[in-house]
Amino acid sequence: MSELTPPWTTVFDEAWASFRAGSFGVGAALVDPTDDSIVAVGRNRVAQRDAQPRTLSGNMTAHAEMNAFAGLDRFNAAGLHLYTTLQPCLMCAATAMQLKVAHVHFAAEDEFFVGMDELWLQHPVTAERAPASSGPLGDRLARFARLLPMVFTLRHFPGRSAEQQARRAHPELASTADRLIVDEEFASEVDSADLRTALDLLIGPPDPNS
Ligand SMILES: [Zn+2]
Repeated sequence: MSELTPPWTTVFDEAWASFRAGSFGVGAALVDPTDDSIVAVGRNRVAQRDAQPRTLSGNMTAHAEMNAFAGLDRFNAAGLHLYTTLQPCLMCAATAMQLKVAHVHFAAEDEFFVGMDELWLQHPVTAERAPASSGPLGDRLARFARLLPMVFTLRHFPGRSAEQQARRAHPELASTADRLIVDEEFASEVDSADLRTALDLLIGPPDPNS
């Protein structure tokens, strides 16, 4: 599939593994832009208790980006690019600045955090360290990247503001998420699929004209 190119292939594989493990369905990687090599990868593990060294799991700090940072074998992330399937949250965006990430690439916007970058301009340290930002990706990958964590939100946080905002921003994705939650046969078919098959099942085949 031409739309999934490195390093996004790795980042989406991480997101898919996170989703299938019952976590928040987000993947991340730190990439050296000089040769596009992957320096560290991470996936959201909030619902796992892996107890692997240098891995956050089983609590709400175990975001994909935090796990990529936790696997970093150097003093900071200066010069590195952070790739993530979902626009970073407040915790991960702040950590990216603390560790001097140069550029953040995200596949899908998170309506909860859109516009947050403007906050960083209010203080000299964050204004200086705020990384460049690119995203979202093309429609199909962006919708898939937004859908996976939305399933977790709708399943575990019904009635909360994150659920209500997700439903307002993406009613079509919310109905797919609802189907995954109530239709066991569909959920089982999706759960046994590889990444590319899951994209077709959940979002539909690629547009042949794009
Ligand atoms: Zn985060």
